[in-house]
Amino acid sequence: MSGGLRVIEGGRGDESSPGLLIVGAAEVATMAGGVRAGLTQGHVGRLTADLAADGGGPDAPVVACWEGRIAAVGPRSKVEAALEAEGYPLGRFIRVDADGGVVTPGLIDPHTHLLFGGSREHELILRQQGASYMEILAAGGGILSTVAATRLADAETLAVHGRRWLDEMLGHGVTTIEAKSGYGLDLETEIRLLEVAWQLGREGPIEIVPTYLGAHAVPPEFRSRPDGVEAYVRSVIEDQLPGVAAHGRARFCDVFCETGVFSADQSRRILEAASAYGMIPRLHADELHPSGGAELAAELGAASADHLAAPSDAGIDALAVAAATDQPVVATLLPATTWFLMKEHHAPARRFIERGVPVAIGTDFNPGTSPTASLPLAMTAACLNLRMTPDETLAAVTINAARALRLEDEIGSLEPGKAADVVIWKVPTSTQIPYWPGADIVRTVIKRGRIVLDRP
Ligand SMILES: [Zn+2]
Repeated sequence: MSGGLRVIEGGRGDESSPGLLIVGAAEVATMAGGVRAGLTQGHVGRLTADLAADGGGPDAPVVACWEGRIAAVGPRSKVEAALEAEGYPLGRFIRVDADGGVVTPGLIDPHTHLLFGGSREHELILRQQGASYMEILAAGGGILSTVAATRLADAETLAVHGRRWLDEMLGHGVTTIEAKSGYGLDLETEIRLLEVAWQLGREGPIEIVPTYLGAHAVPPEFRSRPDGVEAYVRSVIEDQLPGVAAHGRARFCDVFCETGVFSADQSRRILEAASAYGMIPRLHADELHPSGGAELAAELGAASADHLAAPSDAGIDALAVAAATDQPVVATLLPATTWFLMKEHHAPARRFIERGVPVAIGTDFNPGTSPTASLPLAMTAACLNLRMTPDETLAAVTINAARALRLEDEIGSLEPGKAADVVIWKVPTSTQIPYWPGADIVRTVIKRGRIVLDRP
């Protein structure tokens, strides 16, 4: 038996049974077979059923979960035979009817700024009047207005806000997210954000991977100083990083590497210091201008380089070289952001795919530049603006997003031994997930083998 699964002998299934058998699916997109890149970016491992001719018949695909793990996936007759051969008590599996829907792995959002105070709807109007992101930031708006509101928000306020948006994400089929700090920009508030994110992940059902993003912007108290940027970089390295490391919640360290924010050299110093504390580097890279971010991500072996709406040719080359190694840097593209910022230029997803760079997609959920918690909506934006196919976007929010969080061995596909994070959709094929933008098309969400959302 794979994955160290334990068999519990017993009678027929009841509410407390550790087993689920998902039947009646028109399609199962398994995503089996590892990280996707190049030609395989669009391979979703599709198993289909002819429900009209063979509804629930021996060839229809099913997914079996046992004690929080995937036990088997495939045609019903083969799965039942395999379960029996491996000693599972078939009678104890509760049958869950997918009712002609598609079954996919739980979606993974690899880039969110989940926790913040306040909102910034007025910036939408400023942008309509022609103000740029950098102009709004220079005038004390943008990230800085969120920093002011977040510093005033206590842990309970942040937790209430977090739960509200996690519920929204769950309703869109999301079972794991990354959540960044970065609206505190001082040790006390950064740790508060990381602690609340970690606690909300423990509370569940969505699992949360916290990322420390102290170098998200230069805070107001450093801006008035002539050497403000450099002084803040030193403060991040010498004052914040040791405290964040001792606190022990942040798995990753992120930096906003961008012309006019933190240079590639400053980003390198911060991420190397973080690595020494055991935090894995990831970057906001080349969002607005070619800033050396993609090159730096490749140099450091970062888990992912995010945004990449304006990488240099050398940066794309560097990610392509890294992609040919056993430690590829994932290009995590955030098309909801470029859409919401009304940008003409989008991340060159097709070039990344042609060069064999694994592509993931995140929402970039945040109050200024991407106030959407809907990963399926980001998939739609990827189809429309990045020219990715629906199949490519599904890989981007499952197995490749898992890789961007270094969790590809645990989540992101429906394969025996992996966590039983599963979504049953109200549409018959996964290509319809980005096709109905904004619609509620999730029927059932299963997290680690437990039904956590059900709306038949
Ligand atoms: Zn971001």
